Amino acid sequence: MSLNSAREIWEAALGELQVQVSKANYDTWLKDTVGLRDEGNIFVVGTPRAFAVAWLEQRLHSLIRKILIGVTGRDIEIQFETSPAVAESVSKDTSPAVVTRREASIQGAFASQLNPNYTFDSFIVGECNRLACAVATSIVDKLGCIYNPLFIYGGVGLGKTHLLNAIGNATNGYRVIYTSAEQFTNEYISAIREKNTGEFRHKFREVDLLLIDDIHFLSGKKQTQEGFFHTFNDLYNTGRQIVISCDCPPSTLPSLEGRLRSRFEGGLIVDLQLPDIETRLAILQSKARKLRSTVPLDTLDFIAARYTHNIRELEGALNRVITYAKLTQLPLSLELSQAALEGITPPPPQPPSANLIIEEVSNYFGISPQQLTGRDKGKAFVLARQVAMYLIREETKQPLSLIGKLFSGRDHSTVIHNCKQLTSKLNSDPLLLQQVLNIQNHYY
Ligand code: ADP
Ligand code: MG
Repeated sequence: MSLNSAREIWEAALGELQVQVSKANYDTWLKDTVGLRDEGNIFVVGTPRAFAVAWLEQRLHSLIRKILIGVTGRDIEIQFETSPAVAESVSKDTSPAVVTRREASIQGAFASQLNPNYTFDSFIVGECNRLACAVATSIVDKLGCIYNPLFIYGGVGLGKTHLLNAIGNATNGYRVIYTSAEQFTNEYISAIREKNTGEFRHKFREVDLLLIDDIHFLSGKKQTQEGFFHTFNDLYNTGRQIVISCDCPPSTLPSLEGRLRSRFEGGLIVDLQLPDIETRLAILQSKARKLRSTVPLDTLDFIAARYTHNIRELEGALNRVITYAKLTQLPLSLELSQAALEGITPPPPQPPSANLIIEEVSNYFGISPQQLTGRDKGKAFVLARQVAMYLIREETKQPLSLIGKLFSGRDHSTVIHNCKQLTSKLNSDPLLLQQVLNIQNHYY
């Protein structure tokens, strides 16, 4: 059969599909497709974007097949493929200036924000990050199809930003936005100020993959959460991939709107754990290789043993040792490393001060230190206050009467009572326990 009739068959099928699928899905996935070839028992449909192939296969294959069988009166299998020719004909059919400019502006503004050094190749895999890395790799070929959204959480310096960028860098040819939640907030607020929210939403609606880093930044920011909720829904409902990073799991993300939390929990949640000694060593070795520096194993061991909680600090220590050796023109050795890191090698974690705990707990619960230490008996204040008293007692070992003084002059028996109440809540509420651990992570 000639190409023309493949086109005609497909146009007839599209007419039916338009009635059978939602407008959003039709516009996103089907509008730009064409009937490429009718090979008798196989009908080939072309789409301008590779990303759409997997989506169409997974979501619409059987519906399309049914409709095509109806249109042709034959039992026919269906195949989707990317076709640059389709892309051309599509941009010719529609307004070329608009399409090209829009895509260029997206790529100009966002593709450049990906850090080219953060790739899967440069990401060392160990027990601590194996699952997160495997999942991140697996979504690259199946954007929007398997784990959506993908929610990656972990402490500072454990590789969240690296992984998000690695996903973006691996999805060549797709329209990708990488942005931090902070940057998202700034853009959203200026869009509101300039009465430009339509354009703001439009820009995000155009992407195949949204990578949004450090979503915990949205905690307590109601208006931006609202904006993000709409952006999220626009993308999610049309099957685009969303990847989110955060410093804690969604269940313990404070001051997050319930509906946003349940969206996050609807996808796949994976964590990055603290790297074990083997992974830390492997990261140091790979970094030393990149810097073309031969560092003796005992020196790497020394650094790996000292920096256990943060890969950024681990790399920083290696950089410092190498620079120190260059400047002093001494050979790299264990002694030299000890000297180079003297004073900055982290001492065993110091207990935080009571004031720091008060600050962290208030931040976490989205209230002021005055409210935390004051006398308001609102439920949220009481719980936050109990957490703060409990942590101060555990961490600082200060006399109870002194702790009471910090909380508007309460007496020591009130402190005991509050700590007891919290202990029993912690025993029966794993979520609360996780929240308390998150707060501890902030000040250590
Ligand atoms: P986070 O965003 O979680 O705070 P980053 O992604 O910024 O952490 O990682 C901190 C530094 O550690 C970066 O330079 C990153 O390249 C490096 N890093 C983190 N995890 C790994 C890993 N598994 N392999 C190699 N480098 C890593
Ligand atoms: Mg980061």
